[in-house]
Amino acid sequence: MTARTNQRVDGARLWCSLMEMAAVGATPKGGVRRLALSDLDRQGRDLFRTWCEDAGLTVRIDAIGNMFARREGRDPTRRPILFGSHLDSQPSGGKFDGALGVLAGLELMRSLNDLGITTEAPLELVNWTDEEGSRFGHSLMGSGVWSGVFDLNKVRGLSDLDGVTVAQALAETGIEGPKRPEAFPADAFFELHIEQGPILEQEGKTIGIVTGAQAQIWYDAVVLGQDAHAGTTPPAARRDALVATARVIELVDRLMRSCGEDGRGTVGQLSVVPNSRNVIPGEVRFSVEFRHFDEHEVERLDEEFSREAAAIADFYGVSLSLHRLFRIPAQRFDPECVALVRQVAARLGLPARDIISGAVHDAVYVSRRVPTAMIFTPCKGGLSHNEAESILPEEAETGCQVLFEAVVARASATRPEADPPLAGRSSDDPSP
Ligand SMILES: [Zn+2]
Repeated sequence: MTARTNQRVDGARLWCSLMEMAAVGATPKGGVRRLALSDLDRQGRDLFRTWCEDAGLTVRIDAIGNMFARREGRDPTRRPILFGSHLDSQPSGGKFDGALGVLAGLELMRSLNDLGITTEAPLELVNWTDEEGSRFGHSLMGSGVWSGVFDLNKVRGLSDLDGVTVAQALAETGIEGPKRPEAFPADAFFELHIEQGPILEQEGKTIGIVTGAQAQIWYDAVVLGQDAHAGTTPPAARRDALVATARVIELVDRLMRSCGEDGRGTVGQLSVVPNSRNVIPGEVRFSVEFRHFDEHEVERLDEEFSREAAAIADFYGVSLSLHRLFRIPAQRFDPECVALVRQVAARLGLPARDIISGAVHDAVYVSRRVPTAMIFTPCKGGLSHNEAESILPEEAETGCQVLFEAVVARASATRPEADPPLAGRSSDDPSP
């Protein structure tokens, strides 16, 4: 049930906070570099914490650095409504990826203060640690540990390119908190995020109602042929690993396109050995990934790719080994939470559409423990993970208003609360 509020969030205040946060780690090209568990991350967190405490919220931090800023409700026995995102960024990231969801959550809290509203259920605004994975090579770190997908000790042992471990970075920056990071009973989790793709903008929609996230499969591939002299080796004698790899890359693209608009297939990383201009390459290592919202399609892609890639290797007289790194199942968000976002967007008269998330987000892991939904807003040209990432102030405000109304409706609704058992860890998850 949607609460019929006519209360508005303050879009100008939200925009000011976004710009102030973007100044922490600002890059010359207008982006942000706020790597997880770095000194700049700590500065961003300190600023966020000050804002939260000024808004009367109680902040607690767990041992992986996840921050929870709580506003009490009228009924202390109610499970809290969670919402938020992440404040860390890519090395050359934008101002809004993650920050929008956290600071819109802060604006929600500030607006409730201004309006003198006390919700029935308590509210908790979350800043998840290291969503991006760009420093320690493991994305969704904080939400993954909290949800029980990753083991805390394993994650603490991961190191960056300078050999600094997560444990050291947590201690040295003072980001580490005392609480054990683990899922606690919560009524719902809502994450507002920029789309990071072009669909909403192209269709003139202001809100994406995210119904779930794509299934994915990732491989490491190695093609072994034979290094040989470029001048003396005739065609019949060649076992060129790079030519075979080129055909495999073509295959990835062809299989992706066989799924119409809904498939994704990418080779984004490639290394050639010995990488010398007058040597026929004997070894190529590369990455392959496929994504689709339908798990059966990912299964089909996996099967066809493995079979056809093996045939290509045969044809070129090389060996191919495919190591499946992990497979993430498709994640459907909670139908009730999704329906609430849809209702709110309709009531506000916003052009909206259902959408599947092409990227993974903290919400994907949190949804294994807590009923979850996401709200997308457009970003210019669909561009993200880029310093030029940009959105309009009114787009941020609209997304924040939808978040506000969904959270307030959920926190005001009277609902019987049984505590369902938490779901267990699934075996097909990537481990750090
Ligand atoms: Zn993000």
